[in-house]
Amino acid sequence: MTAGSRQRAAGRNVLSRAAIIAVGSEMLTPSRIDTNSLFITEQLNLLGIEVAFKSIIGDDRAELEHAVRSGLARVDLLVCCGGLGPTDDDLTRPVVAEVLNRPLVEDETITARIRARFQGRGLEMPAINRRQAMVPVGARLLENSNGTAPGLWIEEGERIVLLLPGPPRELKPMMTSVADGALRERSPGLSLVRRVIKITGRSESHTEEAVQPLYAEWSRAAIPISATILASLGQIELHLSARAASREAAEAALETAVEHVRAVMGMHAYSTDGRALEEVLGAMLTERGLTIGVAESCTGGLITSRLTDVPGSSRYVERGVVSYSNDAKIELLGVLPELIAAHGAVSDPVASAMAEGIRTAARVDIGVGVTGIAGPGGGTPEKPVGTVSVAAVSPAGSRVRTFRFVGGREMVKFQASQAALDMVRRMLLEP
Ligand code: ATP
Ligand code: MG
Repeated sequence: MTAGSRQRAAGRNVLSRAAIIAVGSEMLTPSRIDTNSLFITEQLNLLGIEVAFKSIIGDDRAELEHAVRSGLARVDLLVCCGGLGPTDDDLTRPVVAEVLNRPLVEDETITARIRARFQGRGLEMPAINRRQAMVPVGARLLENSNGTAPGLWIEEGERIVLLLPGPPRELKPMMTSVADGALRERSPGLSLVRRVIKITGRSESHTEEAVQPLYAEWSRAAIPISATILASLGQIELHLSARAASREAAEAALETAVEHVRAVMGMHAYSTDGRALEEVLGAMLTERGLTIGVAESCTGGLITSRLTDVPGSSRYVERGVVSYSNDAKIELLGVLPELIAAHGAVSDPVASAMAEGIRTAARVDIGVGVTGIAGPGGGTPEKPVGTVSVAAVSPAGSRVRTFRFVGGREMVKFQASQAALDMVRRMLLEP
């Protein structure tokens, strides 16, 4: 059934654009983050419903009222989560009732259910819990299998307002069951599927330039592909999405688009299935039966840590050494003191000697050496903060390069780890 015929058959419009309002002052503090909206978005996307915007609103009547009004004016599905509890700061129910101009009436079956829940624990129901039984006239109840407050499904003309409880363990089963039931009936019947392509060794603008010609082609395709480029630390991500009548069709269209990107980005595109660089490299080492040892200075073990984040990495990670001081580089890796004296600890020759040193000491196929200045102190005019020398040695050859990374200490360390993992990956692809 196409979206159009579904619409006619049901005699109602199909929901295609949603907004989410996460209610709760705690999520406007630095200590709590709204995760419910991510879950809701995932469920909606699977039905082909796009999230047009979302808001986080504190427990404030005026702000919430404004957000609900604004949401209703812009989308055909408004999902609110949180603030359904029995206390004074739980405002979602009364505010939505007011905006929709529907009186709140007590639903006796809810009161009875809440009372029974309390009695089951040998307690009297506190009077304030009656509030949870107050529902806007005409609302449909959604059962809460893990708590007291039911969810509410309210049809307002062609639009739907969905109220869900805040605690994730209550929200998730409720959202899943609405998505399988009432929402599915009103959804476009399209599947929205995403793919993330990760790219290293190219800037955001280089990537944009290379991929741009594909955009026109993608927008004309039978199943159009939309794309967004995101630059994050040490990598560029290209997010592709497609909507189609079935998940399979959307996936096939995305696969074609991924092939297009591979053709223009070549080996710079290191991951087309969401895998991290350390996972991609781990798979390559496993496949080739190679082992690796890492000698780290400024990264302080981060490279080894990332490599060992991957399950099964014991097959290829032999050891990692944090050789932070010059003495450690000399004693643990056999770097010659004269080499450090002549070139400085942060230099191509020292990085190469570290890679050779760990390769010999650990008796592995691939040795990696990283030495640099993570900052904020320690920079010089010739070697400013962010200068990092990375070397990799394998039976097939060796590579070394000095990078200049920008950003604070943590950012420099991460980019250095990214550069080292990528250097090994590239060395394996073109020895
Ligand atoms: P209750 O009956 O428990 O009061 P409620 O529907 O009123 O339910 P809130 O009081 O808003 O929900 O939130 C209860 C708890 O649920 C919060 O302390 C928080 O831990 C969690 N929570 C609420 N909203 C979110 C959200 N958007 N993302 C993640 N967790 C949330
Ligand atoms: Mg609450």
